[in-house]
Amino acid sequence: MVTASYDVVVVGAGNAALVTALSAHEAGARVLVLEAAPREERGGNSRFSGGIFRIAHDGPDSLEPLLTAEAREWLRRIDFDPYPAERYLGEVQRLAAGRSDHVLVKRLVDDSYRTAEWMRDQGVRWELAVGKIIDPENVDEDTTYRLPAGGAMRATEEGVGLMDDLFAAVERAGIDVWYDSPVHELVLDGTSVTGVVVRTQDSSIEVSGVVVLAAGGFEANPEMRLRYLGPGWDLVKVRGSRFNMGTVLSKALQAGAQPAGHWGGCHASPLDADAPAVGDLRLTDRMSRYSYPYALLVNSAGERFIDEGEDEVWLTYAKTGAAIREQPHAVAFQIFDQKTIHLLEPRYETGVPVEADSLAALAEKLEIPADALSATVADFNAATTAGEFEPFRKDGLRADPAGQPAKSNWAQPVDTPPYVCYRVTCGITFTYGGVKIDEGARVIDTTGRPMPGLYATGELAGDFFYHNYPGGSGLTRGAVFGRIAGQAAAERATG
Ligand SMILES: Cc1cc2nc3c(=O)[nH]c(=O)nc-3n(C[C@H](O)[C@H](O)[C@H](O)COP(=O)(O)OP(=O)(O)OC[C@H]3O[C@@H](n4cnc5c(N)ncnc54)[C@H](O)[C@@H]3O)c2cc1C
Repeated sequence: MVTASYDVVVVGAGNAALVTALSAHEAGARVLVLEAAPREERGGNSRFSGGIFRIAHDGPDSLEPLLTAEAREWLRRIDFDPYPAERYLGEVQRLAAGRSDHVLVKRLVDDSYRTAEWMRDQGVRWELAVGKIIDPENVDEDTTYRLPAGGAMRATEEGVGLMDDLFAAVERAGIDVWYDSPVHELVLDGTSVTGVVVRTQDSSIEVSGVVVLAAGGFEANPEMRLRYLGPGWDLVKVRGSRFNMGTVLSKALQAGAQPAGHWGGCHASPLDADAPAVGDLRLTDRMSRYSYPYALLVNSAGERFIDEGEDEVWLTYAKTGAAIREQPHAVAFQIFDQKTIHLLEPRYETGVPVEADSLAALAEKLEIPADALSATVADFNAATTAGEFEPFRKDGLRADPAGQPAKSNWAQPVDTPPYVCYRVTCGITFTYGGVKIDEGARVIDTTGRPMPGLYATGELAGDFFYHNYPGGSGLTRGAVFGRIAGQAAAERATG
């Protein structure tokens, strides 16, 4: 077999992997990045992402030094609260029903700001996540827009920009990247991991070095989705990369790594029902449909099934996909009226709305029972209460219709036609189960001991998220532990 040798071998070329590679390089190692995808499709789920990076901060003044000069201009128009570390930690744990590994999440939170700072120094351009709430080309000068504190910052040009900046940094550093190079075995010497085997089109190459796994979860693999997430999950649409097949994750388990976290759970969110079966790099994140807090969400029986306004959208969207998947045909309908239609995220432009002047006509076009839809909306409207509708903060405008879920915020009557509807389905984003790592990103074996020579970061590491997830913490998790893994792997390799 052909062989090669590096100090550190990083498996994958998404955000977690490239941060690892840059960190290992900075620590003096000779680094190789192995990527299953061809060059044109490089960048993993990270490239598809919205680029939101959830970090702890002290408000606008503390984010300012991270932002590009152009992005700082927005600070005059956009406001957001500080996002203290305790709140970040509390939100991850609250959404996970208290199950996340406290030590790992604390490290994620505590290192989040300084990791973003380090990434800025590597060339990542940070901006405010303005386009997520308003069309930057269409700003009302009299309105002070508010961003959610935890979701205030993102990479310029979202995931595409993030990965462009990271690949540029990798190229500047002279780090080798092999594309079309899926890893399909770990090489062991006794209990130590000493390298990996790459399967090329017609041969295998064994590469030795300290190994860092950053090859994503199993969300693109229907067989594993069915096996771990349950019936029906094999059929959902995949929002991101087609290469995250869980191969490396499975190999790590076979080599003795400990499975950790919510193996039956995943991040899944509302996606345009006409989205492609797997992510399309021409569309990246633009098929997501996250303005549902301002809508009524009904199923094909014309019935509501969740509290659309339970919390700010970044704290509910990751579990809303699963709720949609449980509906008949895994389809639901977001119904807006003219009072809220201007609040749709700009990316709704990629969808084809169904419009009608009456609920009955809308139901007919959607092929759902008109009586049921009219009754749902009438009962909902009758339960709405007086108060000020405030789109950019939780306004407490609540409705408690009998026989329906409550709507805890942004509950206004849906009564101003034409009604506008977007059909949505469940799109899986990433899986929550992974290998157990410690605070030093070392992979832990089934007996609780670190596996010599093996580190992991990103989606492939478990015990961070259960049930639900605060938007923007996935990229941050990969980067924080990538930085740690890169440095530790380099130190191990170079003595
Ligand atoms: C549409 C969308 C929007 C999102 N928006 C956000 C957001 O705004 N903020 C946020 O925090 N998160 C977001 N996420 C989630 C986020 O993208 C992931 O949590 C994060 O990118 C995971 O990074 P990673 O480096 O672990 O995995 P990835 O970026 O997926 O990288 C894994 C890499 O491993 C490669 N690979 C797989 N198998 C092998 C193998 N056998 N050998 C070699 N290489 C292999 C893959 O090709 C891929 O390049 C979004 C995801 C999607 C799909």
